[in-house]
Amino acid sequence: MSANAATASPVAVLGGTFNPIHNGHLRSALELVELLGLERLHLMPSANPPHRPAPACPAECRADMVELAVAGEPRLICDRRELDRSGPSWTVDSLAGLRSDYGPARSLGLVMGCDALLRLAGWHRWRALLDYAHIIVIARPGWQLPGDGPVADWLAAHRMDSADALRDRPAGGVLTLELRPLDISATDIRALCRAGRSARYLLPEPVLDYIETRQLYRDAADNN
Ligand code: ATP
Repeated sequence: MSANAATASPVAVLGGTFNPIHNGHLRSALELVELLGLERLHLMPSANPPHRPAPACPAECRADMVELAVAGEPRLICDRRELDRSGPSWTVDSLAGLRSDYGPARSLGLVMGCDALLRLAGWHRWRALLDYAHIIVIARPGWQLPGDGPVADWLAAHRMDSADALRDRPAGGVLTLELRPLDISATDIRALCRAGRSARYLLPEPVLDYIETRQLYRDAADNN
């Protein structure tokens, strides 16, 4: 452990398929950086998402779009670690890697929208996530936190009431935050592209150029 790891600013990671990355992801990421005083936030594309059909768009292309989107914002970085592993992209394995990179004392957060949280009980070793990181849940338009069941109980048992609590220990708490709601989804963007309509202003212009140049999301087969 480095001498100042316990006092260093927290870091966080937002995983997803990013198929493609859009302004809902980016605005949430930036607001988290500022609200929580994060040193950086890793945007981590999933290579082989275990809980949904494999995206037709290759992981390398999705990661390239994340790189384009964060260029010029040093507090957001594209993390390609799941592209460097074979097999299912288990989040718990990625968190173990981040924990090892940052050392045992650094406050580390795993960010997820509440739609992802509703599926959490199906994740590989989901209860172990808190051994490595805090969970930061962001409210998302149209979605609610689970009201009952194992994830609801687990949330209640580990709830943190303030962003300050995130700095006090490296892992183990759940913080729920409401950020600026932007009702944008990658599903909608793919549907616009498929329909030959413009997705401009829903995602960064360089990402849109990348999609148009490579004619991504044109076919019905690219719908996931
Ligand atoms: P799809 O529509 O293909 O399911 P998506 O837009 O939900 O994609 P993902 O890559 O699956 O994007 O999302 C990664 C993470 O970002 C998830 O935790 C998700 O909840 C969150 N997220 C996605 N869109 C938004 C948004 N508009 N506002 C806040 N969080 C979001």
